[in-house]
Amino acid sequence: MQPAVERKHVVVIGAGIIGASIALRLVQEGHRVTILEPGEPGGTQAASYGNGAFLSPASIIPMSAPGLWRKVPGYLLDPTGALTIRWRYLPRLMPWLWRFLASGWTETRVERTAAALSGLLQDAPARHVAQAEAVGRADLIRRDGLIYAFADRDAFREDAFSWRLRDKFGVISRELEEPELRERLPDLSTGYRFGILVEGGGHCLDPGRYTAALVAGAVRGGAELVRADASGFDISSGKLRAVHGTSGDILCDAAVIAAGVRSKRLALTVGDNVSLESERGYSIEISDPGIALSVPVMPQDGRMANTMTANGLRAAGQVELASEDAPPNWHRTDILLEHLRRTWPGLALKKTPRRWQGNRPSTPDGRPVIGAARGCAQVFHAFGHGHIGLASAPMTAEIVAALIAGREPPLDLAPFSPARFG
Ligand SMILES: Cc1cc2nc3c(=O)[nH]c(=O)nc-3n(C[C@H](O)[C@H](O)[C@H](O)COP(=O)(O)OP(=O)(O)OC[C@H]3O[C@@H](n4cnc5c(N)ncnc54)[C@H](O)[C@@H]3O)c2cc1C
Repeated sequence: MQPAVERKHVVVIGAGIIGASIALRLVQEGHRVTILEPGEPGGTQAASYGNGAFLSPASIIPMSAPGLWRKVPGYLLDPTGALTIRWRYLPRLMPWLWRFLASGWTETRVERTAAALSGLLQDAPARHVAQAEAVGRADLIRRDGLIYAFADRDAFREDAFSWRLRDKFGVISRELEEPELRERLPDLSTGYRFGILVEGGGHCLDPGRYTAALVAGAVRGGAELVRADASGFDISSGKLRAVHGTSGDILCDAAVIAAGVRSKRLALTVGDNVSLESERGYSIEISDPGIALSVPVMPQDGRMANTMTANGLRAAGQVELASEDAPPNWHRTDILLEHLRRTWPGLALKKTPRRWQGNRPSTPDGRPVIGAARGCAQVFHAFGHGHIGLASAPMTAEIVAALIAGREPPLDLAPFSPARFG
């Protein structure tokens, strides 16, 4: 445990993987920490619960890519596709969608985001091991690599730009020809004949339980967990005095907004009108699936993570654009199951799969918002991690801890600035 330069009382708003990692880090640096969370830490309400569990240094490519606008109508018209919009939310989503397409308009823009995300992700598995060890749950993190599976080399070539960028930013990967792919994944459908192995990749065996373990570790280290919602801030003469919670005001020296998709309203109260929407996703989990995955697999046609977790085989994916409060459309989980059956022909379904829907807190450019609020220097943003929040949580925690201690952050924070939305 490192002594803090100056011990502060910090309120961390939200106990998903981002808030949990930050709270633990702040406790380790000697701060007094109060965690505000209305639900269970890492519970089903959090995106951190049912995600794909990938800890991938290769996840540096944003969703929006050059030419995507041409493909969007096809995606949307395909009822079994990985992307869908609930049309009645379209007017509300338009500003976000426009920014989303614009952010991937050119290769240069995509490269800028990949460079920024590589700083957050390059050593993510090792950071998770250290974080998990600190709370006695190293058993929840694996570092055996990840495989991206393609129909054939031509399908891989369609993705060549992304893999060139990954190469450029130091992601170590290796091509797997069909015999080696089959040897590593004997249960994989013969429809996949080419793979990329990301040797430095890892995964989490139970992201919800891991998040809860980090919070429990922070509490053992002295943090207080308060079951309440944060509703705003008491700021006097530009200086933070307290966080308003449904349990009352909590006096503090600093606060961190890590409320996932619900962070937008809180950010607005401290002067930052960020572009943040839910990219809703789904997962299913199958106990005793009758097949083995030596490592997690991303079949590139389905764009979903297939991961063996502590509770069975999990398939996580789908992007559904709608309000975070819209009811789940469980048909999206049928699509995941159908794809899973095609990918793993030997799959056994002894019980009904467990289903889950969650809200990725997503900015249009695929970069999180990390840094001090423009309206109050003692309030810090740590949200908007979209598709990479699990993997990038420990680095986010290191950055926030540096900002709170007044140290130079380990990364250039300009790409993550709340000011970039205008
Ligand atoms: C289907 C799917 C697959 C994914 N796969 C991966 C993957 O393989 N790898 C990866 O790295 N990422 C993945 N992600 C993304 C990742 O899950 C998220 O980026 C990450 O969980 C976001 O964490 P968070 O802590 O910001 O938000 P959350 O986990 O949503 O937590 C926010 C917390 O804040 C609380 N809260 C909300 N409002 C308030 C308030 N006013 N006051 C106090 N607390 C509040 C909520 O109750 C919640 O517990 C996936 C996401 C989905 C949906």
